[in-house]
Formats: sequence, C-alpha cells, structure tokens
Amino acid sequence: MTTVEIERGSLFEEANLPYGVFSTQSDSPRVGVRVGEMVVDLALALGDEVFATPSLNAFMAQGYRRWVEVRQRVREAISKELPDAAVHRVEEVKMHLPIEVGDYVDFYASIHHASNLGRLFRPEGEPLSPNWRHMPIGYHGRSGTVVVSGTDIVRPCGQLKPPDAPVSVFGASRRLDIEAELGFVIGTSSEIGSRLAVGEFAERVFGIVLLNDWSARDIQAWEYMPLGPFLGKSFATSISAWVVPLLALEAARVPTPQQCPEPLEYLQEAEPWGLDIDLSISWNGHEVSRPPYREMYWSPAQMLAHMTANGASTRTGDLYGSGTISGPRKDQRGAFIELSWGGSEPVKVGNEERHYLQDGDEVAISATAPGPDGARIGFGEVRGRILPALLQ
Ligand code: CA
Repeated sequence: MTTVEIERGSLFEEANLPYGVFSTQSDSPRVGVRVGEMVVDLALALGDEVFATPSLNAFMAQGYRRWVEVRQRVREAISKELPDAAVHRVEEVKMHLPIEVGDYVDFYASIHHASNLGRLFRPEGEPLSPNWRHMPIGYHGRSGTVVVSGTDIVRPCGQLKPPDAPVSVFGASRRLDIEAELGFVIGTSSEIGSRLAVGEFAERVFGIVLLNDWSARDIQAWEYMPLGPFLGKSFATSISAWVVPLLALEAARVPTPQQCPEPLEYLQEAEPWGLDIDLSISWNGHEVSRPPYREMYWSPAQMLAHMTANGASTRTGDLYGSGTISGPRKDQRGAFIELSWGGSEPVKVGNEERHYLQDGDEVAISATAPGPDGARIGFGEVRGRILPALLQ
C-alpha cells in the first residue's frame, strides 16, 4: 500500500484534481487523476469500471451530480492508503487524448485579438465587424485532428498567394502560427431542437483544457473569403492532457468586462462571469507572452447559449475553443501574427528573432488560476513541435 504525498505549493493539490487518460507499460489507457506529481488510477482506487476506459466520455455522460460525488470520493481515497498498483509517478506514464472529441467549435471572444486581426486583415476598415459586439462569432472546426499535447505538428501545405505573385501556388505554409486558447469540454448532451440557457453552463460543461489552434496564416488569408477558416486551421489542434474540472475553478470566477451594447436576452446573464486564468506562451523555452483570460469579452456561458440558439444539439465530448486570448498590452497577445504585427516586427526568442514558426520550433502554453485558500490551480501544458512539410 502507498500514500500520495503532495509537495507544498504544488499546482495539483486537492483543490485541483484534474482528470486525464494515461497508460503504463503493463496497462492500457485508462482514466486517472493527477495529485501532486502522481497519477492515481481511478478504476483501481475507486473500484469503478467506468474509469477503465480510454476516454473521460463515459464518466462525463453520467452528469453533474456524479461529477460532484466522484470528486468527493477521490478526496477521501487519496487521504488514505492506496494499492501500490493504483499510484504512478507522472513522468512514468504516457498521456493520451483525454476525451473522444465530438463536435469542435472555435470562437473569437477576445475584443483585443479581434481588433488586432481586423487592423491587420482589413487595414482600411473598422477593426471590428458590425456583428462582433452582438454575438460570439465562431466557426465549426475539425474534431478528428484534435491531438494531445506532445504530438508533433507537420507543417501544412496548401494554396497560398504570395503578395508578389500574380496567382496562387501550392506549397508549404510560410506563416505558421499559434493561437493560445482555452477549450471547454461539454459533459452532458442536449437534444436537437432544444436550446441551452446561459444558466445551464456550469452543469453542462465538465471542464477546461488548454488549446493551441495552430494556424497557417497564408493559407487562411487566401481561403477565408467568404466562408471563414478552413484548411488554414483544420490540419491540427492541440489540447492539454489534463482536464481541469469546472468544479475546481469556483474561486477563479471574475466578472466579464462591460458589454456594450447590452446583448440580446438569450445572451444575458444576471452576473456574467469569466475566469481569472493566467496563460504563459513559451517559444523554444523562452516566454514571449502572458495572455490573461479575464479580459475575454464573451463569457463561456454566452458561447454555449449562442452555439445552441438555433436548436443545434450538443454531445458528450464536444469541445469549444474560446478564441485566441489576447490582453490589451503587447506582451499579452496570444498569437504570433499579433506579436510580430503581421510579420513586420521581429519577436525576440532568446538570442534569436522570429516572425512565424520555423521547422524544429517548439511551443508550450501553460496556465494557472486561483484556487481556494490561496492554492493555485495548474492546467499543465499544451506542447507541440513543428516538423518539416511533407511536400516542398
Ligand atoms: Ca482560434
């Protein structure tokens, strides 16, 4: 038997308890909880077969009351001795995609990011499109290319039109970028023809991951008119291995910034709240930005209500991204197109300079949030390295 020790100041104290899917040399992928630097095998620790599966989906589908109950049972289990086989050191396990991703939607909820991109893509016009302050703008992405942190990313190829070329060419993206976001994981499904109200968010959404929406800006710039993002985005989206339960983030709730004009009734919350989550973007080991999630204009509940306002159903495992998280300051921008101002200003990466990603570059996004009683809640990281394109 063994007891789980947690180091003082750990980002994975009892206040956090994020879920993930791990495997060992002897065991196939199964659900675990991270406690300090350990991973607890929940099927063994709780004697519950719903955790002996390679995704969180079956557990999430059991609903909000079960999420509360299991969190309490995990706390009790880790306060006692556990079988040796139920406890592993985090560096000794392999992490897998934690959820079977249903539908994937990506929003655009940062007013700072949307304004910056508007200035870069449409320098002659208003930074924000006329609809932006009236509803959370989004698009449907490709769930089949959502990959877990640590997965290498092959530089995408596609149609691009260099500024000096008369017509488009096919080739490797030269303007490969990131977007630092949060991803919201839907726990329980809703029926087609029904709508989810803003007030249902906290009992429908199971947890949050870090998300990197890899973006090929040159492919995107040529293809996006008039139907929006397509192949410039769909080649890969990375998420962190640990899903932080929404239940762990109650102390991190903060009011959203003032919304003007007042949104339509289905988007109104009595007290709209966002989350006080601090992100950090590291490029080849050098921190280049610290985006603050608390600055996001549209709340996660408003995004969920808007996504189902037309009667679209949701399923367990659906994932929606917040959109790039950018704050008002330059060192809070969540994409390299903003940090390099469209590729015109070099970004200092250690002793080197960059505008966009080069082959071999590695990006890691991490985050923390306040927990109860001075604790900090860690999200782990979402990491990815760029491999050369398959065709040159
Ligand atoms: Ca995005």
